[in-house]
Amino acid sequence: MTTVTTPATTKDYRSTVFLPRTDFPMRANLPAREPEILERWQRLDLYRRQRAAAAGREKFVLHDGPPYANGHLHMGTALNKILKDVVNRSQQMLGRDSVYVPGWDCHGLPIEWQIEQRYRQAGKDKDTVSIAEFRQECREFALHWIDVQRSEFQRLGVIGDWDHPYTTMAYQAEAGIFRELAKFLLSGELYRGRKSVMWSVVEKTALADAEVEYRDHTSTTIMVRFPVVEAPRPELSGAAVLIWTTTPWTIPGNRAVAYGEGVRYVVIEVTEVGDGSLAQVGEKLVLAASLVGNVANQAKITGHRTLAEFSGEALAGTICRHPLHGKGYGFQVPLLAADFVDTEQGTGLVHIAPSHGADDFELGSKHGLEVPDTVGEDGRYADDVPLFAGTHVFDAAEPMIGALSETGTLLARGRLTHSYPHSWRSKAPLIFRATPQWFIPMDGAGRLREKALQAIAQTRWVPPQGENRIRGMIESRPDWCVSRQRVWGVPIAVFVHKATGEVLRDPEVVERIAAAFEQDGVDIWFSGEPGRFLGPDRNPADYEQVVDTLDVWFDSGSTHAYVLAARPELTWPASLYLEGSDQHRGWFHTSLLLSCGTRGRAPYDRVLTHGFVVDAEGRKMSKSLGNTISPLDLMKTMGADILRLWTVSTDYTEDIRIGDEILAGQADAYRRLRNTLRYLLGNLAGFGEAERLAYAQMPELERWVLHRLAELDRLARECNRSFDFPRLYSALHNFCATDLSAFYFDVRKDSLYCDRPDSMRRRAARTVLDQLFACLTAWLAPVLVFTTEEAWLTRFPSEDDSVHLRLFPDLPADWRDPELGARWDRIRRVRRVVTGALEVERRDKRIGSSLEAAPQVFVGAADARLLATVDFAELAITSGIEVITGEPPTGAFTLDDTPGVGVVPKLAEGTRCARCWQSYASVDTDGLCARCADAVAARAP
Ligand SMILES: [Zn+2]
Repeated sequence: MTTVTTPATTKDYRSTVFLPRTDFPMRANLPAREPEILERWQRLDLYRRQRAAAAGREKFVLHDGPPYANGHLHMGTALNKILKDVVNRSQQMLGRDSVYVPGWDCHGLPIEWQIEQRYRQAGKDKDTVSIAEFRQECREFALHWIDVQRSEFQRLGVIGDWDHPYTTMAYQAEAGIFRELAKFLLSGELYRGRKSVMWSVVEKTALADAEVEYRDHTSTTIMVRFPVVEAPRPELSGAAVLIWTTTPWTIPGNRAVAYGEGVRYVVIEVTEVGDGSLAQVGEKLVLAASLVGNVANQAKITGHRTLAEFSGEALAGTICRHPLHGKGYGFQVPLLAADFVDTEQGTGLVHIAPSHGADDFELGSKHGLEVPDTVGEDGRYADDVPLFAGTHVFDAAEPMIGALSETGTLLARGRLTHSYPHSWRSKAPLIFRATPQWFIPMDGAGRLREKALQAIAQTRWVPPQGENRIRGMIESRPDWCVSRQRVWGVPIAVFVHKATGEVLRDPEVVERIAAAFEQDGVDIWFSGEPGRFLGPDRNPADYEQVVDTLDVWFDSGSTHAYVLAARPELTWPASLYLEGSDQHRGWFHTSLLLSCGTRGRAPYDRVLTHGFVVDAEGRKMSKSLGNTISPLDLMKTMGADILRLWTVSTDYTEDIRIGDEILAGQADAYRRLRNTLRYLLGNLAGFGEAERLAYAQMPELERWVLHRLAELDRLARECNRSFDFPRLYSALHNFCATDLSAFYFDVRKDSLYCDRPDSMRRRAARTVLDQLFACLTAWLAPVLVFTTEEAWLTRFPSEDDSVHLRLFPDLPADWRDPELGARWDRIRRVRRVVTGALEVERRDKRIGSSLEAAPQVFVGAADARLLATVDFAELAITSGIEVITGEPPTGAFTLDDTPGVGVVPKLAEGTRCARCWQSYASVDTDGLCARCADAVAARAP
């Protein structure tokens, strides 16, 4: 075997080779470069420039769900805003006008709580501060965080109308929120009812969850009989249903007993009792089968037998007597199914007092039970409560036990130390108490539930399982309690006639209030001049002025009205709402109800949801676990483009993991994409229109690349339209890594470096590189916002241009050539066997580069015909190749997935060209092959 000889000449031809030239650095240094690019966009006023460029196009309006203005960004808010930005930018580049107005949610307890915290730390009493002053501090707090978050969102590369965001605390918004409320008021769809809330009898106020702490408390417990008066099952007649409670004082508020449909219940007959037992031989008791032993123990029942056993459903329709029947509690008590009933302790049957518990209240609303006003704000029973009027609930246990003993319904008593809610401030134990609250009915004359369910069916939910989630919630939800007893919010600016209890429904009063709010903000409601709103014909003394504030979910739920419908650049309904999947319960839900209540349909055409950010092991991020990752830290170490790439790289409809290794993987993917752009830029240096070649004049290899571009164009449009970014970005990454870097770029390196500039082959390659650059910078622009801008400006330096003013390129239809694509799939398959064989040769040091090889390739007849149509040595980057029809000989290199193809490596013969390093039978006296001699001559001046 002869080997390649090196030519005699020592002449250095490096300067005659077209090595890549570009200022686009290999090292991205994003943390330093991104802020410079941001400044440039601000100078250009890129958002306005986009609007001007898109003027007249169909609008795409993603309505921003407002984040709460009380802290720095975390991974979840970063992910949400980046996804929105990718959607907006891709829609813009698809040819729409993507108008994006960011917003902030400002009212509500978390901010109020922060200000109160400041007061506590300063030893200041909140009650000595005027409402106006307190609200002003809340407002300033929110303003501060809006500024902080705005610059953080911008640092992530998110584009939008940051100079004119919406906030729920703007006067115009506060007036808008009230106007929406007033629509419900005027149509009769706002009523005052009662609701069970956590209440401190010491501070005489309702407490929010954040103000409650749990500590141990010892309670008197009682086991009480509810005699059955009506039962669909004969074995229940004459029996008593048994309940157990740790709050004897709630018995006057009892209106039902709950059972679990899946729980097994028994009817037992007592046959023997111990000393001091309150049970009676012969009596029949109904309770959960698994708790019979415990109950017998506590009630000193020493003998019993089971008369019947059934599952909970059999209790449906059963009616009992109140245990204080005959003492002013004459009403009947139905048995109701509830999913919160368990058999951990007690009797497996739960006494329900709708005024005195969250579960109790919800079950009561579902079944239309009365919510009696049993306990006053000082913790004493109301005057109309038989037996106990005026008694404090915390002193009620013994009188209660006495009364139940008298009616013969007490079966046992005991004591229990358990975790119980206490006031964060006073440390006093809390009670649940019914308080007057304002509601929007679900099934009133406005048929809100029905309309909302219809609207859900007319909305597109992505992913589709979101539809069932929100439908289930709307189907089962109780009336919406829209009132809160707080200060930092929009007031329920309503008057109630003191004498009649009638709510004032006067459009003129409503308009006076709304106009005042718009002019001066809602503080004016609290500053007390009701006459100004009531007008000259009404006496303010006749009216109660409601000072409750609205649930903040009402504020954000009505943004569609005072943002979407009010701003001329936006459209109603929105094209898209995009938030975390918890918003089926939150923003999607309340926006739907408010929009259906006032406009009869959803405020959105589509709803897209994403999961939550979790750590690499799938755990929730928390300070206590120490596994939080701050997006702001990542900006300083890796850059926004890496974080953005991570955002679109995984299926975001599920929970999304992040960790050091995952980010390192994204950094690798980023480098691959960056190096692809850098290769294009380096080899496009000096490319001009005169050099461009028509499609028909191109070699098949170039036409294959254009075919792949056409395929990717189709995919990119489809994925961008359906928000399937992970699929698109995985395809783009594979294209850059496999089709380009490992194949096309590798094959064409020789032509690009060594052919004379006017060679058709080189011109075709550079024409294709130009198309690749146009497509890749566009397709990557919605995600790698900084890097594509840097690449674009490197190639086309400009003071006022931007890659983000472009559209996705329109590719000629004839680039798509599936038949060509299939043939090249096969060619590349055979090529993989060749490169595999040469890899072994290189590893074993028999060759340095593939150009030192001229292998034999054994193929079937069809492959041989196929390979004859191309320069296979060029594609395999060898100095020669021999395609032989026939079975591969023993010992030939093969790959399992390409049967019938074998490669026998052979060294190339001849002399190596001093310039291109390919081997030829002969080279000239300067050591050059004919192609290189020609190229060098063409370069000479
Ligand atoms: Zn050469």
